[in-house]
Amino acid sequence: MRSRKPSARSPRSDHGPPRAGYLLGLDLGATKVAAIAVDGSGRPLAPPVYVRHANDGPTSVLRRVAQAARVSMPEGWSRPRAVGLSIAAQVDARTGLVHFAPNLRWRRVPAGARLARALGQPVRVVNDGRAGAYAEWRRGAGAGCDDVFVLMMGTGIGGSAVVGGRLLEGGTNAAGEVGHLPIVSGGRPCHCPGAGCFEAYVGGWGIASRARDAVRADPVAGRALVARAGSLRRLSAETVFAADRAGDPVAHRLVRETERYFRDGVVGVANAFNPSRFVIAGGLAAGHPAFVRIAARSIRDRCQPPAARAIVRPARFGPLAPAIGAALYAATPSR
Ligand SMILES: [Zn+2]
Repeated sequence: MRSRKPSARSPRSDHGPPRAGYLLGLDLGATKVAAIAVDGSGRPLAPPVYVRHANDGPTSVLRRVAQAARVSMPEGWSRPRAVGLSIAAQVDARTGLVHFAPNLRWRRVPAGARLARALGQPVRVVNDGRAGAYAEWRRGAGAGCDDVFVLMMGTGIGGSAVVGGRLLEGGTNAAGEVGHLPIVSGGRPCHCPGAGCFEAYVGGWGIASRARDAVRADPVAGRALVARAGSLRRLSAETVFAADRAGDPVAHRLVRETERYFRDGVVGVANAFNPSRFVIAGGLAAGHPAFVRIAARSIRDRCQPPAARAIVRPARFGPLAPAIGAALYAATPSR
């Protein structure tokens, strides 16, 4: 991954003279900040900038975010028209207050106001899942539709719903968290207080946990899988997908089971939200492209008839979706 120190020079643009009206998107993760300047269509205008942070509290981390923002503004360009910050947190998108960010261990941090002071212009703050979905809805695989569901598949499973042209927030800003839809009654424990959740079977951590159980149940059959991972502890969903492609029988069984659980989850989500476009996003989906085809077939064959018409598409934006979505979100007048 490209990395730039905050002291690095601003990226040179190959896109002509300085321009007004560009947007700046920032994505604050647990270990780094991504920053990118985009146009109104979400097209990058310069290479992204990555700045690491030490997760050592809001003051220090927000200083790094501001550094990333400054470094990412192409040399000689005017101020961005809008700045958006995406963050894995429960966020009040109206005020920019971060209620709770588990990875950063933040509670009630006025991130929007503090960053706005540092940059000298307003900053809109939005949950990262919501930001990624916003990018897909406005300029990506869901563009042109008023009813879109974006399923985010990574270590966990998340989602965001656009219904009737509105990105749903929910009573406590957690609408669309379908990773915690129970799909197996009395099933595997989850990171939430529930059990049998969608992500406990199909999320990256859920697949890895099921794989470790399979190896413990039959260490001889699982030996090749462990060898590929390096150790039982390092066994990941990516290892399982790669081993399946290489013909490993234990991985083959795990992946087919994962696809079965995935079908159940997707059918439930499509029935509940009735999207006309169903977008599959996230690193885990990129690692197993068959998820798109499987989702399309299960929605067509198993959803109640009106919901069965949803069209399934892979996401357009990759790992920069939250940063780009935050930029586009910030440029949209507040609702
Ligand atoms: Zn759960």
